Amino acid sequence: MDSDVRFDTRAVHGGMESIREAGGHVPSIDLSTTNTLADVAAGGDSYENLASGGALGAHDSPVYQRLWNTGVARFERSLAGLEGAESAVAFGTGMAALTAILTAVVSEGRSHVVALRPLYGGTDHVLDSGLLGTHVSWATPDTIAEHVTSETALIVCETPANPTLDIVDIAEVAHRAGNVPVLVDNTFATPVLQRPLSLGATLVLHSATKFLGGHGDVMGGIVAGPEEWMRRLRHVRALTGALLHPSAAYLLHRGMRTLPVRVRAQQETTRALTERLRAHPAISSIRYPGLATGAAAETVSRQMSGPGSLFALELTGGYAAASRFVDAVRLACHAVSLGGIDTLVQHPASLTHRPVAAGAKPGEGIVRVSVGLEDALDLEKDLLQALDQTAG
Ligand SMILES: *Cc1c(COP(=O)(O)O)cnc(C)c1O
Repeated sequence: MDSDVRFDTRAVHGGMESIREAGGHVPSIDLSTTNTLADVAAGGDSYENLASGGALGAHDSPVYQRLWNTGVARFERSLAGLEGAESAVAFGTGMAALTAILTAVVSEGRSHVVALRPLYGGTDHVLDSGLLGTHVSWATPDTIAEHVTSETALIVCETPANPTLDIVDIAEVAHRAGNVPVLVDNTFATPVLQRPLSLGATLVLHSATKFLGGHGDVMGGIVAGPEEWMRRLRHVRALTGALLHPSAAYLLHRGMRTLPVRVRAQQETTRALTERLRAHPAISSIRYPGLATGAAAETVSRQMSGPGSLFALELTGGYAAASRFVDAVRLACHAVSLGGIDTLVQHPASLTHRPVAAGAKPGEGIVRVSVGLEDALDLEKDLLQALDQTAG
């Protein structure tokens, strides 16, 4: 594929080059756990290269699935192409991807992380618990410089953030971080709407379980960035076994090909829906990048090409209203997760953000909505009837 083709063309064709060259059309799933070796010396050289984090060379055998899988590599090339990254490394889940990053920095002797809340509940939990040997300082964009020390390995942020859709100015964080690498969780925006590497971030992380897969039937995680970092992550993946399964890689790669159209269609519905819902008396505010005001609106217009398809409703009736709302939806589904083709609603304080420390937990009246590909009028009808019931 020519490197100068436009974004949507890259989404359709990225990672497919070797398939066309071999006379095929779509990838086949290579389930081999092991591979034939030419001879001891060549097999050993390949093992050495892959186990130390190298990419598969022209003369290498993949050796063993934990070290390399061609289908996983195709998905990685596809995502790297859309994020404008040198390369990418895929894992079994988003949390496995984060774990690999933290394991890499701790193993290199630096364990301090500066993180900006809010974050996905699982990310918050791993950092706050120190489970992986890191210790965290919770900062705001303004206080990053006060917290960074010579021990700081990483700055972690998420924008729009899960679950309140808070906006972080990526270029500002990168500026304040100085030489410290910045990791941006880009799960909510996807590369269709936001490319953190072009704004100064070092690493981009996705829960591929969400928009990249897009159909609620596959888990995965992926990190994109400079090859020097990806080499370290492949090394961790090879040693710890957090690899992505080839069947999952197949589904994720297929998801990438429709990512731009899904993201834009879901976004259009969300724009219409948030406009229609905002006047409802049961809602005290709608948190949606498309309805942001002031500095946040300015940041959104600078770093995102659109507001996306997630929003949070803050209900005037608090926990009781939120609980009634998720019970009352009929077309939308009461379930965690997001970014798929059908609409999901959930109560972050009870579920995805349950482990977050009391002072940093999302409000009890907040419900998160992930808008799917249903007709906007049907969703409007469903969410309005559910809102009507929150009063009673
Ligand atoms: C779901 C999610 C994760 C974790 O990903 P898994 O694939 O569930 O491990 C990380 N970050 C964000 C923003 C998420 O929504």
